[in-house]
Amino acid sequence: MAADRFFPTTVAGSLPKPHWLAEPEKLWAAWQHEGAALESAQRDAALVWLKEQEDAGIDIVSNGEQFRVHFVHGFLEHIDGIDWQKKTKMGIRDNRYVVDVPTVTGKVTRKAPVHSEEVKFSRAHTDKKLKFTLPGPMTICDTIADEHYGKRADMAMAFADILNKEVRELEALGVDTIQIDEPAFNVFFDDVREWGVAALERAVEGLTCTTAVHICYGYGIQQNIDWKKTLGDEWNQYAEIFPALNASKIKQVSLECAASHVPMSLIGLLKDKEILVGSIDVASLDVETPEQVAAVITEALQHADAERILPCTNCGMAPLPQHVAAGKLHALGAGAELARKTM
Ligand code: ZN
Repeated sequence: MAADRFFPTTVAGSLPKPHWLAEPEKLWAAWQHEGAALESAQRDAALVWLKEQEDAGIDIVSNGEQFRVHFVHGFLEHIDGIDWQKKTKMGIRDNRYVVDVPTVTGKVTRKAPVHSEEVKFSRAHTDKKLKFTLPGPMTICDTIADEHYGKRADMAMAFADILNKEVRELEALGVDTIQIDEPAFNVFFDDVREWGVAALERAVEGLTCTTAVHICYGYGIQQNIDWKKTLGDEWNQYAEIFPALNASKIKQVSLECAASHVPMSLIGLLKDKEILVGSIDVASLDVETPEQVAAVITEALQHADAERILPCTNCGMAPLPQHVAAGKLHALGAGAELARKTM
């Protein structure tokens, strides 16, 4: 079992940045400080969220990604071989958003450890199990333009090598779960089977801590809400990739299940995995009741053993108001507790 009780709870990763750290309720919010003042504000924000998660009864906590502007670029900023001045307009996630992305112009290399300091700080301030999230090779390749590698699969493997160095260090610093975020897996099914899972496995090769992959339908922002409307009544995207994921070495798969059109029966395709059941809708400002959260967990129980279910959020909560995200954390903790009592 993943913890010493059923339904250990966790979060997908990001949490809102307090107003004194960055502009609130924005995905690419600008920092309110720089230099040492910024580092100090980031640490303070991480402390707030570690405490909030503990108070909410979350078992496997994250620092809320308070140290990065965005879940992909926060890592890439520290990688050589990327020209940040050379912006390329790119339709990412199969043209769901058109954005100016930086361009890979040479071999990508990691100058120095990227996240070690924040992990040391986070580890020192909680006794809970600590999760750390990093963008996956396919998602990175879908968020950056390539003028060097020529083939996405090759560039993905280069990033996987870099990620592997990083995650091995983070594991040594006491991280309990390394989660690789691959929202692009829900878009490029053929690539997932051809090289996406291989790149993912390369990224976590050699780890002995828990490994997870998060695959969602994106943050609760307008472009995603509009995209979801085009997906029909029943979302079967996961069915395209679950067989390959079930055969992979990754231990946990994090999914969007709350208020979504994903048929819960699809988790039956992940028989050998622990499942992070998204029980909190990040696209709604309404805070779930514990009963709503428990209902999602109970539904998941019909398709997976209790030992393999970890209640989680559908996705990161970065764009939400802080008090809403805090409320949702407490609903998650209370809902899991309710599910434990009633199972
Ligand atoms: Zn997500």
